[in-house]
Amino acid sequence: MGRTSKDKRDIYYRKAKEEGYRARSAYKLLQLDQEFDLLKDAENVVDLCAAPGSWSQVVSQRLRELCKGQATIVAVDLQEIAPIEGVTIIKGDITSRPTVEAILKEFENGMVDLVLSDGAPDVTGLHDLDEYIQSDLILSALNVATFLLRRGGTFVAKVFRGKDTCGVFSRLSVFFENVTVAKPRSSRNSSIEAFFVCRGYSRPSFWEPTLIFHKDPSTEVLQDLEIEQECSRTTESSESQERMKTMMPFVSCGDLSCYDADMAYDIDRNCQENSSFATSLPPVQTPIHAAYENALARKRSAQQTN
Ligand code: SAM
Repeated sequence: MGRTSKDKRDIYYRKAKEEGYRARSAYKLLQLDQEFDLLKDAENVVDLCAAPGSWSQVVSQRLRELCKGQATIVAVDLQEIAPIEGVTIIKGDITSRPTVEAILKEFENGMVDLVLSDGAPDVTGLHDLDEYIQSDLILSALNVATFLLRRGGTFVAKVFRGKDTCGVFSRLSVFFENVTVAKPRSSRNSSIEAFFVCRGYSRPSFWEPTLIFHKDPSTEVLQDLEIEQECSRTTESSESQERMKTMMPFVSCGDLSCYDADMAYDIDRNCQENSSFATSLPPVQTPIHAAYENALARKRSAQQTN
């Protein structure tokens, strides 16, 4: 889909560019915040898997509006993130020890109110595999959150709904008083994406956050297996079993007046009413290193050798 065509067909993509957000995902956080007041009581926020940075833009803007001068916002991603006012940026893998240590260093003097994770691995299109890898990423983000969150803190994580969702929900319920699955209106109905909104953190007595890695230290991938064993031990307690019987609450959020992500708006009419629709807007922030850079370089060198 060309940029102009996408501008016209994807209303949130267009709106993000008009309003200065680096990605349409900004509206997902805005709508989650509208529903759950995530940022009202937050001063220290960690945005995991944050590139290109639209969630961090929203957090930084909202905390400035709420006059939180002391706020600490840390954004982390495998990809480089261009600077954002009021945000400390860390480039790294959230499943690796150096990255987790770098995040902890930023909060040596305090605890975090809110941990966000909009993480998504490269989607393969195989729903089961994508969902499995996504669940693994949520558990890595949860592990980071258990180092950082204050009692009562909030954790938000992207989930691809599928057969593992209930298991992840049960696990999150061990750490949080209230766990809801939320679908913002800016997230397409056709997508299996939703968000866990987990409120009221309290660290279970058995749980001691540790940085455990696979045997090969050079890969430095967090060993989720260990976490799994700890969690299955807790699910044996009657309290956790009680929680597991609970149905997953589901909330659709974003008020009814907002745009529907699946709707095709009559752009031609909009073009007449609003001439700005007729022109394509440039991206708010071009990628520092686009994912397709290597592929392009390979293609160019192949063309030169031919
Ligand atoms: N919330 C972002 C925004 O509003 O701009 C969009 C996030 S994007 C959907 C998902 C991001 O997850 C990608 O930038 C990807 O690099 C990141 N990611 C995936 N796995 C990661 C990992 N293990 N560590 C850090 N970042 C990761």
